Formats: sequence, C-alpha cells, structure tokens
Amino acid sequence: APIIVWFRKDLRTDDNPALIAASETEHPVIALYIREPAEAGTGPLGAAQDWWLHHSLASLGSTLDRLGTPLVLRSGPAGKVLDDMIEETGAGGLYWNRRHNPAGVEIDKVIKASLKARGVDTRSFAAELLHDPTRLLTGEKKPYRVYTPFWKALERDGEPHEPTDAPEKLRPPEKAPASDVLDDWHLLPTKPNWACSFTDIWTPGEGAARERLDDFADGAIDGYKTDRDFPAIDATSMLSPHLAFGEISPARVWHATRGLTSSKDDVVHFRKELAWREFCYHLHFHFPKLAEKNWNSRFDAFPWEAAGKNFELWTRGMTGYPIVDAGMRQLWKHGWMHNRVRMITASFLIKHLMIDWRRGEKWFRDTLVDADAASNAANWQWVAGSGADASPFFRIFNPILQGEKFDPDGTYVRSFVPELEMLDSAWIHKPFDAPEPVLKEAGLDLGKTYPKPIVDHRKARECALSAYKSLKND
Ligand code: FAD
Repeated sequence: APIIVWFRKDLRTDDNPALIAASETEHPVIALYIREPAEAGTGPLGAAQDWWLHHSLASLGSTLDRLGTPLVLRSGPAGKVLDDMIEETGAGGLYWNRRHNPAGVEIDKVIKASLKARGVDTRSFAAELLHDPTRLLTGEKKPYRVYTPFWKALERDGEPHEPTDAPEKLRPPEKAPASDVLDDWHLLPTKPNWACSFTDIWTPGEGAARERLDDFADGAIDGYKTDRDFPAIDATSMLSPHLAFGEISPARVWHATRGLTSSKDDVVHFRKELAWREFCYHLHFHFPKLAEKNWNSRFDAFPWEAAGKNFELWTRGMTGYPIVDAGMRQLWKHGWMHNRVRMITASFLIKHLMIDWRRGEKWFRDTLVDADAASNAANWQWVAGSGADASPFFRIFNPILQGEKFDPDGTYVRSFVPELEMLDSAWIHKPFDAPEPVLKEAGLDLGKTYPKPIVDHRKARECALSAYKSLKND
C-alpha cells in the first residue's frame, strides 16, 4: 500500500526526514500538498507569499517528477482531504514533518488520533527547527522568556541533526491520484502585477535556496557580524523566505557554516540569528496568541491612534523620513526588507505614529515573502516593547540618526527613493533641513516631489513617551 507524504512548510526533498523514511519503506510514495482553508488558522498566506508558494510548488513538482513520483495538489480541510485520499488510493501510511504553529499543531493532533484509530501508520518527524521547542526548558521546566539563556540552552543541547541528502528515487503509485492544477489556484497577481520586480532578486525553490546558502558560506559570511547592520551591503544570507517555506532546513544551514575559515565571530553571530528564529518559534509554540495579544498586558491600555491616513502613507513609503520610506518601498518592490530597516520602520509606526503594532504585523504578513507567524509577531512585539525580552519602549529610534549611522552615504535610500537620488549625502536623511539652494540643485520641491515629514520627530517622541508613562506599572 502507498505511503502519503504530506508536504507543508517543508517544500524540499533534501534533509526531509518524512520523505526519506517513506522512500526507505520501498512502498509507492504519494507526495501531497494541501491548500488548507484560512479558517483552519493555518493561513491565509499573504499575497507576496502566494506568489512564492506558486513558484515553490512548481519547483518541488519538477524535482519530485525527476525522482519518480508526481506532486499531488488538493485543497480543503486537511482531515477531509486526507480521508478522501486514503479512501481513493488505499494508502497504508501517512508521514509528515511536524509544524509548530499552534493552529497547525491542533489540526495535526486530531488527524493523527483519528487515522491511528483506523490503523493507518501515521508518523511525524522533526525537520522545521534545529531543536524541538518542547525540549528546551528552564531549570523549572518552563519555557524560556529571555533570549540569552535560551541560546545557552540551545548550545548545551548539542549540534542539530546531520542533514540527509534527498532520496535518489521514489516509487510512484500505480495510478497517480487526481491533482488540482496549480494555475487554477490563482496564486499569482494578475493586474497590476505588483510582483514583477520580485524575480530581480528571488528564485523560489530548493535548488536556488541551496545556491544562496553555498554563495553565502563561500563569501558574504566574512564580515557578517559588522556588515549585517548596513542595508546597502549584501551582507546577510537572504535565506529567510527559503527557510519560511522550508525549502532548506535550518540544520543544513547550520552545518554549512561548520569548519569555515571565516572568523569565528561571524559564524557564531550568524548562528545566533538562526537561534533567534528558534526563539521566536519557541515563544509562539508556548504562547499561541503571540500575534494577537500583548505579551506584556501593561500595553493593553496603550492609547493607540486610529490607523488612518498616516498608516497609508507609511505603507506607501511617503512619510518624509528617507530611511523609513526606502524600507517600505523595498518591501513593496521586493517583498523583503533589511533587518535593520525593519526595526526602524516598525519603530516609526509604533512610536512616531502611535499605531498599534498589530496593524504593522498584518501589513508585513501580507507583503513579506518571508512572513512567518512566529518571527513576525515576536519581532513586532520586540520593537513595541510589549514582547518577551523586548527592547524597552522608551528607547525610541531617531530615523535621521539611524539613517546617518547605517546608511552613511545614502546608497540604500537612493536605490529605493529615486526622488532623492541627486541630493547631497549631507542631507540625504533630512531633506527637510536642507537649505533651499541644495534642494533646488537636487531637483527637489518638498511637499511636491517628495513629502515633508508627516510628524515632527521631537514632538512625536514626546507624545509617545507621555503615552507610555500614562500606563500603569506591571
Ligand atoms: P540573516 O541575517 O542572514 O539571518 C539568517 C536567518 O536567521 C534568517 O534567514 C532568519 O531565518 C533568521 N533570523 C535573523 N534575524 C532574525 C530575527 N530577528 N528573528 C527571527 N529570525 C531571524 N523574519 C522572518 O523570517 N519572517 C518575518 O516575518 C519577520 N518579520 C520581522 C518583523 C520585524 C518588525 C523585524 C524587526 C524583523 C522581522 N524578521 C522576520 C527578522 C529578520 O528581519 C529577518 O529574518 C531577516 O531580515 C531575514 O534576512 P536574512 O535571511 O538575510 O537574515
């Protein structure tokens, strides 16, 4: 009897323990992807991720075809789709790699119990994380709330598993089950095609993920620790969307940095970032409402402003603060934003515009190709000051100084805000302070060709601080 391998956010054949285990049984393998309904709490994916999913499934489909079995696409509630599939194919086993988002975990528990009761050999494997979030607990057997002890526990837990290569061959079922047609899922934008620039920098699929990892390990990781904060430098791995869709395993990424001649500091720092991903998953697993509720309930009384015109200007990169606008436009153009600038833009929304972090979290979820329920929510709460081990609310980024420090000659700003291209570097992060002749020379007419600041930094800072002070202490 065939074995169904249910693919979720593990769209790869490399280091895929469920697939390898199925291939080793020598039974026919049915590779299945289910588009689950949004109300199951597993979706919906944002529009940018729909784009990625389309291409990633196409890529996985061709890899599986080469290995010998087709990828079957179905949509509907997972339990029902699996029941139908087992009925149709007489499958005797169902294998998957565990997911850790709380809604997914609940769905999986129910499916496992019901299929086991019916005698289907249901097995799950660890593949999404370096370490299982239930294993790393404090001395009192509680989840970690602070990153540094979490990192130490992760190091103590030893190296993650050795990644395994993709199976060489998969035995197909005698009759291929019917599959939805990928194009009929309408995952790609039609008109306007806002994703047209995504392909400038992205190639979804495990092959491209592996190439990116190899290139990073061969070069960019040198200097990672210092350069990773400068958005104009290609210093980070850009593996985040590949990791978010499971096109590459974190264990594969971790081990690729073993034995490198790069400085130990760079390697450790990079691994610590991978561990931030783990920490976010750990928080989300143990605190399922991470994307909905302030971790620190003190923030429940925060006097947020309504998300009106200013919110819209923020989403469009029209705030009048160049580093913020460059970040928001990078997000729109490429479905990705540099980490330093994510912090600056998020802080601006929360503290300068006093708009609820959940609105920003939602916007990022819809526009990032790497949107991840755990990492997105945990990072937004971190910036807001409401999260676990968060940056304190009163530490308010000054968008001008942040720009001057991390994009000193304005290269990053110029690449996403063409209106400012000709502006002298001395004023690139504060065009509103530039003398009139300088603006004229740069062809700038503030308020017309580029916006004036929508809020005054100093005043906005004072407002935010007094709103924060009005909250009761913990
Ligand atoms: P690298 O510097 O090369 O890091 C390697 C990997 O480590 C990343 O691919 C990512 O998986 C992980 N990582 C790095 N930094 C973090 C971090 N702070 N938190 C969690 N994991 C991290 N990351 C997402 O993957 N999805 C999100 O939805 C997301 N939303 C964010 C929202 C805000 C407001 C902020 C401030 C950060 C967010 N991040 C998110 C974290 C971080 O910005 C991205 O992971 C990083 O920019 C991805 O680029 P990279 O792959 O080149 O990173």
